[in-house]
Amino acid sequence: MENCIFCKLANHEIPTNIVYENELVTAFEDANPVAPVHTLIVPKAHMDNILGLSDPDLMVALKDAIDQVAEIKGVKESGFRLINNCGADAGQTVMHLHIHLIGGVSLGEKLI
Ligand code: AMP
Ligand code: ZN
Repeated sequence: MENCIFCKLANHEIPTNIVYENELVTAFEDANPVAPVHTLIVPKAHMDNILGLSDPDLMVALKDAIDQVAEIKGVKESGFRLINNCGADAGQTVMHLHIHLIGGVSLGEKLI
């Protein structure tokens, strides 16, 4: 999608710090990390949010990326949190589906 920053980052049109990549998904570092580990897992194809996700192959690719990023970032054993903001009340600011993988510190039990 034209003028979508995450389309450009996920498809190498703008350089970024890529952590992991497969055929359908790119994972790169969040520009404003909230924890020692904060990686964004992003489909290469544009969809505004998780409600646009229907391709089973992409679902598997996203799960594989979660697995690989957790391994690469060293939080598979210690644990991590996945966050997906969908829409205005969730505070979604970039309108291209992305999953935050956050960890490297004890995040506590509260969700919000
Ligand atoms: P959300 O609020 O869920 O839409 O999250 C958007 C996230 O994208 C925020 O955590 C931002 O720090 C991050 N972000 C915005 N622009 C960039 C960028 N150019 N490269 C990496 N991360 C970005
Ligand atoms: Zn996009």
